[in-house]
Amino acid sequence: MANNVIDFGTAKLRLGDHLVRGTAADGMIRAIAITARDTVQTAHERHGTSSLVTAALGRLLMAGQMMGAMSKVDDELITLEVRGDGPIGVLTVTANNRGQAKGFACNPNAWLPLNAMGKLDVGGGIGRGTLGVVRDVPGAMPYASQTELITGEIGDDMAQYFRASDQVPTAVGVGVLVDGVGDVRQAGGFIVQLMPGYEYFLIDELEERLRDVTSVTNLLEQGMGPAELLDHILVGLDFEELEVTPAEFHCGCNGERAARATMALGAAEIEDMIKKGETAEVHCHFCGRNHYLTPDDLRELLSV
Ligand SMILES: [Zn+2]
Repeated sequence: MANNVIDFGTAKLRLGDHLVRGTAADGMIRAIAITARDTVQTAHERHGTSSLVTAALGRLLMAGQMMGAMSKVDDELITLEVRGDGPIGVLTVTANNRGQAKGFACNPNAWLPLNAMGKLDVGGGIGRGTLGVVRDVPGAMPYASQTELITGEIGDDMAQYFRASDQVPTAVGVGVLVDGVGDVRQAGGFIVQLMPGYEYFLIDELEERLRDVTSVTNLLEQGMGPAELLDHILVGLDFEELEVTPAEFHCGCNGERAARATMALGAAEIEDMIKKGETAEVHCHFCGRNHYLTPDDLRELLSV
């Protein structure tokens, strides 16, 4: 009977970007996976990114969304900053624990030829440098840490962060497939971790399975979603799904925050703009949106 029950809420959720979180091997493994085509496409459209930067920023956005969703603390904000010496330069992503992330690249047009495998050269685009992670919980001091980039391919670098910072054996795979006109065709990824008290045979087991997972986007092209991705990686280890969460590109900037940012210019500067009849333009780096304050808005700002 149970097989005939369809949860329409969950079924609908699985059509768009979403995260699936669960455990395997009697709780010794925790795992999360994501599909985020719309999230990464939105980032591409908002920032006009080249295919290379779409892939790099997309991978980091999904890493953020997964890390956020793994957080046990409500309202925790996670900021990831990749700082490399390649043409892409700096990527910044902020994610919460509700599947929402925003992010930007300092050089959205950066470009390199395809690598030897015919793939977008994310590792070359990022180059050598650091991955910074800031975990910010309301009412507490932000916790910041930094690790050296391993390959600049994002997945390896995130895995290294978990190993170095949390001492947790972790595998991370993230992939973005961009079509010929620069639109996102597939985007997805996974994080698989061994929990304290794991049995050592699981390391070999997982390494063997992950050796077969050479390309996340290939698996997505076969029609897999996050749940199927985890079933595939953790086959035979009794993967148990715990939670499905929607995911999206989301920035909380608005007119009110733009007004606050404008106030920082100081009253004299604002009065000067009013006198000249100028409209203040506040650009949000994270989502690429512009907010405008007319001379009337500015007058109201000063009268408060
Ligand atoms: Zn914004």
